[in-house]
Amino acid sequence: MEEKTAAARRKEELAFKARNGWTRVSDEEADRAMDFCKGYVDFLTAAKTEREAVDYTLDLLEHSGFRPFDPNGSYQPGDRVYCNNRGKALIMAVIGRRPVSDGLRIAAAHIDSPRLDLKQHPLYESQELAYFKTHYYGGIRKYQWPTVPLALHGVVVCRDGRTVTVTVGEEEDDPRFVVTDLLPHLGQEQSKRSLADGIRGEELNLLIGSRPFNRDEESEAVKLNVLHLLFEKYGITEEDFISAELEAVPAAKPCDIGFDRSMIGGYGHDDRVCAYPALMAALDLRVPEHTAVTVLTDKEEIGSDGNTGLNSAYLRYFVEDLAACFGCEGRHVLSASQCLSADVSAAFDPTFPEPFEKNNTSYLNYGAVINKYTGARGKSATSDASAEFVGAVRRILDDAGVIWQTAELGKVDFGGGGTVAKYIAALNVDVVDLGVPVLAMHAPFEVVSKLDVYMTYRAIAAFFA
Ligand code: MN
Ligand code: MN
Repeated sequence: MEEKTAAARRKEELAFKARNGWTRVSDEEADRAMDFCKGYVDFLTAAKTEREAVDYTLDLLEHSGFRPFDPNGSYQPGDRVYCNNRGKALIMAVIGRRPVSDGLRIAAAHIDSPRLDLKQHPLYESQELAYFKTHYYGGIRKYQWPTVPLALHGVVVCRDGRTVTVTVGEEEDDPRFVVTDLLPHLGQEQSKRSLADGIRGEELNLLIGSRPFNRDEESEAVKLNVLHLLFEKYGITEEDFISAELEAVPAAKPCDIGFDRSMIGGYGHDDRVCAYPALMAALDLRVPEHTAVTVLTDKEEIGSDGNTGLNSAYLRYFVEDLAACFGCEGRHVLSASQCLSADVSAAFDPTFPEPFEKNNTSYLNYGAVINKYTGARGKSATSDASAEFVGAVRRILDDAGVIWQTAELGKVDFGGGGTVAKYIAALNVDVVDLGVPVLAMHAPFEVVSKLDVYMTYRAIAAFFA
């Protein structure tokens, strides 16, 4: 029998070694991961916008014993409450055994995703074709969005106060909409544009009709016909678009990717792929040690600004009200709290290795990924979690047998990004990013690994426990 060399032994003791998660889990655990993702695919299918994610979640909460939070209420360990912020963001909490002054365990994910919003005067006709003008929401690579079937989701608030919910393009026989592109035969001039400039913001026009209203010699009869159809179906007029939020999102349904079905492709993984695990971890709780708070927020993709984003005071107000229920101060509760900012990270793409630094990137199937910091350039615009807090999270994950990895977002000075972490850090909470590695992030069709989704759920569950 061959003896290991001293170097081999020493290396085993001291050097860090990562392995593909599928080689580290039992068959039973692999099955659990595959099963968990069935529920996730249902969520992803039903909740393509922040409003739909809130509606879907409210349903689950009501069936799981959660009740609207009452700032004047009195609460016992195990009680389950939630706060609905304008139908676009949610906070839910399960009261823990320890006093809230010992701090909360918070998991915060976002439920908005990049998309094409309609402008306030969207409808126009050109050369007898009807279109909607759009304004993209979040960071998109504009060239990826033409020639993709799109659906329209959102609300229209009418002059008379009615709110009309619109969902077109999800049912089998629904129409879809599309942004067109040039044919290669005539694309020579356009092909000289840079990739960033290949499709411009004002070229993201949604094709929505081509048939005139009737045989009259009326101008813009195609546009009129669209207005006519919208009025017939929804009772809305052109002016009502001014007070509407209509979002064009990819119409495709999520599906398994690969012969081995190990991955999921779909629109809006960022960040429903962390929102769903955070939600499931909350629903699983009975009586946690610390009060566990799950935040599903809006507006992350445009910088968390706006009153439904985490740069608003809505989380702080909730914690202040919760603290008051127990006779303590919100700032003391927050200062003792810890948070996982549950957001996705960029997975290494072997086809495009250039922007990744191989020792410090996340890999598909290597588990939930911790980003100690995100930001850009010299760690600008990020919270950069402390060694102490990363150490604490690391122990929790290892003790629970969670498969995890650590990464930063690409090579130094190659770009960057941000999450809600810095807004939570601004409340004097210890916070670090943890989530799922994603291929083709922010594209109309993104890819994640089922094992990573499951491990993110297990990570948040261990953090809450
Ligand atoms: Mn995100
Ligand atoms: Mn994003």
